[in-house]
Amino acid sequence: MSWSLWERDIIRPRAAVIVVGGGITGLSAGYFLREKNPALDVLVLDRSDLSTGASTRNAGFACMGSLGELVDDAQTMGHEAVTGLYRRRYEGLQLLQQIVPPEEMDLHWCGGYELFGEGQEAEWAEVTGQLEAWNERIRAATGIERAFEVVGEAEWDEWRPRGGMGLGAIRHAVEGRLHPGKMMRGWRRQLKRVGGRFYGGVAVVGRGEAKDGGVRLVDELGREWEADRVVWATNGFVGRIFPEVKVKPARNQVLVTGPLDVQIPDACFHYNKGYVYFRRCGAGILIGGGRHLDPEGETTDRLGTNERLIGYLKDFTGKHLTEGPFEEVAQWSGIMGVGPEKMPIVEWIDERQVMAVRLSGMGVALGTAIGRRVAELITERND
Ligand SMILES: Cc1cc2nc3c(=O)[nH]c(=O)nc-3n(C[C@H](O)[C@H](O)[C@H](O)COP(=O)(O)OP(=O)(O)OC[C@H]3O[C@@H](n4cnc5c(N)ncnc54)[C@H](O)[C@@H]3O)c2cc1C
Repeated sequence: MSWSLWERDIIRPRAAVIVVGGGITGLSAGYFLREKNPALDVLVLDRSDLSTGASTRNAGFACMGSLGELVDDAQTMGHEAVTGLYRRRYEGLQLLQQIVPPEEMDLHWCGGYELFGEGQEAEWAEVTGQLEAWNERIRAATGIERAFEVVGEAEWDEWRPRGGMGLGAIRHAVEGRLHPGKMMRGWRRQLKRVGGRFYGGVAVVGRGEAKDGGVRLVDELGREWEADRVVWATNGFVGRIFPEVKVKPARNQVLVTGPLDVQIPDACFHYNKGYVYFRRCGAGILIGGGRHLDPEGETTDRLGTNERLIGYLKDFTGKHLTEGPFEEVAQWSGIMGVGPEKMPIVEWIDERQVMAVRLSGMGVALGTAIGRRVAELITERND
């Protein structure tokens, strides 16, 4: 389908830079491109109005990873790379709140806890044994004094979860919770403020083709879009168009309960290397994860319910956090983009196209800084 003359006038399907994917990464790339180059026409396209990836469907944690996760990651990535990634998450969150004000996205630095239950004795010994060394690495990389602390007996006795979850806990000083919908609305407002354009409801099909010294994209209605440069920020969905890229979709289930009488503090909680996470949400509990129990079933970019995992999350809540039945007030899934290693992919894929994908479970923390890096890459090449 070709554009009508009138549509072409109004929609202006040609831009200097088109960003495909309007999650946190794509919107921040668009924002920084305009901020650095106010004369550049920047257009962000998303297949849906308010992003249907991970950015509006995550659990609202502004997290940088539990100590258990860092220790685990270091076995494959090494200390240096893991510390570097931690620093990037920290810087990403600082940058995020410089652009979207904390009060606009209900960002609250509540801190976090990693919980260890009976049966995890060896892991607890390993992780606590490495705590001081990680605190020192993190202090040297970020300036954060004592990121991790073992929770003392008195505090632990006040709110220790029930049902075999009482081995111990490690407090993480720098964790927060936020409202992802408000965060994304804030990004849209900022993109508009600097003069960037955004269209929802435009699903790009197929990779960009060279045309007249630029790149031609086609959407699912057959309409053509053109740009000098294209940024792919489609994260967990990138494999639909670029199956060779080492990113797999990873679905995550989230459940919110009605009001519950629970003891746990207002903080972000992690269990089992971050595979299960929960926090207070209004008067209830938000709990998510469990993907490790069905990795195959959750390797999909189709949103949907995994009854087995929802059952596990309900059991977990009933067993460890509350007594008796509880009401379920919301349930949804979100798609992350993961790969054989945790480092995001931020690179040129040809002369004119950049890819910024694979943000794993870290994109709230990393997305802003990655968007800025994309803007730097394009600005350098344009100069
Ligand atoms: C349940 C859950 C919990 C999480 N917890 C945390 C956490 O604690 N801390 C943290 O930092 N991160 C967390 N994350 C991860 C974080 O949400 C993501 O890493 C981040 O949102 C990725 O942002 P993105 O912009 O790269 O991708 P996305 O937000 O996925 O955006 C990609 C966009 O591309 C669009 N798109 C896809 N294909 C096309 C196409 N062909 N044409 C046009 N548009 C297209 C999609 O509609 C989507 O809006 C969590 C994620 C989930 C799902």
